[in-house]
Amino acid sequence: MAKSANRDSYNKIFSKLKEHHKWFENSIPLIASENIPSPAVREAIMSDFGNRYAEGWPGERVYAGCIFIDDVEFECMKLAKKLYKAKFADVRPISGVVANLAVYSAFTNPGDVMIAPSIPAGGHISHGKKEHSGTAGLVHGLEIEFYPFDAEEMTIDVDKTKQKIKDLEKDNRLPKMAMFGGSLFLFPHPVKELAEFLKGYGIHVNYDAAHVAGLIAGGKFQDPLREGADTMTMSTHKTLFGPQGGLVLGGEDHEESIKKATFPGLTSSHHIHHMAAKAVAFAEALEFGKEYANQVIKNAKSFAEALSDNGFKVLGESRGFTQSHQIAVNVLDYSDGGEVEADLEKANIIVNRQLIPGDIKAGRNYFHPGGIRLGVSEITRLGMKRDEMKEIADFIKQVVVDKKDPKKVLARVKSLRKNYQKVKFCFDNKLGAYEYVKLR
Ligand SMILES: *Cc1c(COP(=O)(O)O)cnc(C)c1O
Repeated sequence: MAKSANRDSYNKIFSKLKEHHKWFENSIPLIASENIPSPAVREAIMSDFGNRYAEGWPGERVYAGCIFIDDVEFECMKLAKKLYKAKFADVRPISGVVANLAVYSAFTNPGDVMIAPSIPAGGHISHGKKEHSGTAGLVHGLEIEFYPFDAEEMTIDVDKTKQKIKDLEKDNRLPKMAMFGGSLFLFPHPVKELAEFLKGYGIHVNYDAAHVAGLIAGGKFQDPLREGADTMTMSTHKTLFGPQGGLVLGGEDHEESIKKATFPGLTSSHHIHHMAAKAVAFAEALEFGKEYANQVIKNAKSFAEALSDNGFKVLGESRGFTQSHQIAVNVLDYSDGGEVEADLEKANIIVNRQLIPGDIKAGRNYFHPGGIRLGVSEITRLGMKRDEMKEIADFIKQVVVDKKDPKKVLARVKSLRKNYQKVKFCFDNKLGAYEYVKLR
């Protein structure tokens, strides 16, 4: 065959994909928003569903060709409702951000006020202000107020929030929506303590479970819909180990407005292959979710304790460090979150730098924040337990505190990873967790 620059590019893409798989096979993935899906989820994603359109609601589609897609989507909704004990589920949002936009669109108008956690207090950019390019402000025109945050307890301050709502009412800035949930999320948010109070002001309460959806499914974090949240949004791929995607849950009275917001408001195609893969993951979570969530939380606590024993300043110490899959560490004694992230990556330990309470006031920014965030969902899904948590905490100490050459630590990382190459907590795991599948 003649030499072709296009063919070279084509080959290069596949060689990079393979290198990435090889790298992750030999890494310790600690990004709290990531997970490893089962081979079953990967199989669903590769199916022909990914090449079809199924606009509208199952049974009322805009195009023909949806017979089997409809069956799967009905099953998907049934499983989602069972998993979260919800009356209504819209499985079409293609991501957590789109799920949040669906509730903004369904229950607020541009110009309305929403109260949400700030980013250093754990909030997500999709709850953010227009001047920060946050989705709520920039895309839907919401005005954002922040909850008062208790940095010692690492959660929303209940009494100060009540006072703030009263003050906002006096200023004619009463929120239309209250957003709970976040991205730096160590302890449950006070939904039980605040939902009735907020609803007394006619405020719609949404809980963004993007990070903790898998823990909620396993009954191990908090149960927002029983604690008073009106609706719940989430990503389907963080602690919940599905494909990348979103989900909105609510009561029967929310159904019509959410449905319209999702389609035609926010999606045309809703990525049908991912919908099928969500259904697979919901079935897995129903079957294995309790055991998985239990192990995730045990691992996070063991990991936090081991890091603290190694001299690290782990946030939330007064409350036992964490009740979720996450751990936040203040690394300012050694350098900053950005440098620590880069050093650890050289040892194949993948973490993210993290803004922590106090950073903005101290003039630190997103590139050089005071902390790192660690998540144990993925390594738990690979079967790791307490002993491995201790070992990883030692690797991190060697790189960050002892300033050992990351390349030396790398050899130990690779050797630890050898025994953890299959996905656990699923029905079938013939394919390796990071095994590259060639179809060509
Ligand atoms: C990750 C995250 C999102 C965004 O989810 P995507 O699925 O990436 O769009 C929304 N909210 C919170 C709290 C998150 O942590």
